[in-house]
Amino acid sequence: MEKNDLDLLIASPGSDMAYLAGYFGHASERPAFLLIPKRGEPAIVIAAFESRSLPDYDGTVKILTYTETQDGFDLVRQARSSFSGQMRRVAVSDQIWGRFLLRLQSLMEDAEFAHASGYLRELRMRKDDSELGLLRSAAERTDRALETVLQSPIQGQSEIQVAQRLARAMQENGLSDTFTIVCSGPNGASPHHISGDRVIADGDVVVMDFGGVFQGYHSDLTRTYCVGHATPEAREVYEIVKRAQQTGVDAVRPGAKGQDVDRATRSVIADAGYGDAFIHRTGHGIGLDVHEDPFMVEGETQKLDPGMTVTIEPGIYLEGRFGVRIEDTVAVTPTGSERLNHVPRDQRIVP
Ligand code: ZN
Ligand code: ZN
Ligand code: ZN
Repeated sequence: MEKNDLDLLIASPGSDMAYLAGYFGHASERPAFLLIPKRGEPAIVIAAFESRSLPDYDGTVKILTYTETQDGFDLVRQARSSFSGQMRRVAVSDQIWGRFLLRLQSLMEDAEFAHASGYLRELRMRKDDSELGLLRSAAERTDRALETVLQSPIQGQSEIQVAQRLARAMQENGLSDTFTIVCSGPNGASPHHISGDRVIADGDVVVMDFGGVFQGYHSDLTRTYCVGHATPEAREVYEIVKRAQQTGVDAVRPGAKGQDVDRATRSVIADAGYGDAFIHRTGHGIGLDVHEDPFMVEGETQKLDPGMTVTIEPGIYLEGRFGVRIEDTVAVTPTGSERLNHVPRDQRIVP
């Protein structure tokens, strides 16, 4: 904050507050803020009953609580006047609701507001060993969930039924806040399709993209399988995506930029003649948020450093027919990269 000339940093429940204060509460209409001044004691303003779920800060954080009939912003004003010096430059977390930001701005009319992510991203992108351990564990739990689900047939079930099986298997492996995207046949051509009641049939290509949270840290895994049998076209497209994904993982190393990784991955698909069918970026950083800096996309000039964790998830989407995507979470190591997911990527026909 000294170096960046910031007088105050404000976060709300969300990934920045989790990172800075170890509090994993959810954002709601009840204001909750972490206020970190450049000098002096940080403060948390929170509803009294919710303060019971705060970690024990051993007196290093001033906890200001309000009841259901009081206005939390009176406490923000109080905290602010207890901080020494002027509040000229205030950085706010991306995940502060608009209704709260507008009130903070009217409370601090003379301050200039900035994105906290401009400063926090430097810290959050580089995971320390304990964070890497949690990401590795989240990925392994997700791998196991998929293996469990593949033990019984998916043919004849609806996308929603398979999504529910995946969610249950992830929960049984200790993951919370799970998401599941199951797209079958033509639905696979929509990368973020919402699982519906289409019944999975023989010959379908099925994309499963899913993940969850382990002690705050996310997993994100995609596998694509042919059901019953595979057409020659599906086989060919699958091999191209698999090769692109391997090329992307190989491009992840210290010093490579996000756009270098995207270009390397994309060129495999373009050279095979499917460039127009790869309709999204190659990947994203992953940590306390499922999508976070840095992004594997054209224009991303952030260089990769050891400890960064990103996804590599190329896909080919053929409208009206099918889609294929393969995604792993990968950590940057001092010499290259380490896949955190280990479910096989070879072509597989499932019942
Ligand atoms: Zn996605
Ligand atoms: Zn995904
Ligand atoms: Zn992803």
